[in-house]
Amino acid sequence: MTTLTGTDDPKALAEHAGRALEDASATEILRWAADTFGDAFCVTSSMEDAVAAHLASTVKPGVDVVFLDTGYHFPETIGTRDAVAAVMDVNVITLTPRRSVAEQDAEHGPKLHDRDPDLCCSLRKVKPLEEGLAGYAAWATGLRRDESPTRANTPVVGWDERRGKVKVSPIARWSQEDVDRYVAEHGVLTNPLLMDGYASVGCAPCTRRVLAGEDARAGRWAGRGKTECGLHG
Ligand code: SF4
Repeated sequence: MTTLTGTDDPKALAEHAGRALEDASATEILRWAADTFGDAFCVTSSMEDAVAAHLASTVKPGVDVVFLDTGYHFPETIGTRDAVAAVMDVNVITLTPRRSVAEQDAEHGPKLHDRDPDLCCSLRKVKPLEEGLAGYAAWATGLRRDESPTRANTPVVGWDERRGKVKVSPIARWSQEDVDRYVAEHGVLTNPLLMDGYASVGCAPCTRRVLAGEDARAGRWAGRGKTECGLHG
């Protein structure tokens, strides 16, 4: 495993690790993160699948898996979260926005997601995650470069400028085939909607099935000129 020490600057550490671990396996990348940050390291999961969480649990049993419950999820996504908590050796932590959907509707009017999805995502995703990650120095995601052009340059380890944290994307270099193979080999839980025409699973009002030839995230905020929720931009 690559050893990376000798700096107290977390940004320099992240950038150095990103270069040094570019060709490392997902497990090696996660092992570096777990060894470097210990309990100050977590994995975030949208519960589209549990691949990143499963990989992390193999190097750090009981690892914190942070899930953002926006109040707008498909029932299948909540079911996947509950199944992950029940069968995997991880500690699922559910974050919720400060306001319920009903409270948000009362304050901003109904269906804010249709009128101002950036504000809705900020209130229901970006801010809760910022608060939920406050106690961690590093977080891992399941981002992949092949998901969309906006993710094509995702480093395996990078510096999350907005949050001042190290961001680890152990499967950034994986293809969909790599994911499918890992899921099959390890019996990893996946969201049932992936078998029902959805290639990327987000909040129900902002997610549709993808059409032939579309990239995996084409079904997110379709027709609204929005491609990311602000968690990764
Ligand atoms: S994805 Fe849609 S419903 Fe979910 S927080 Fe963003 S705008 Fe709101």
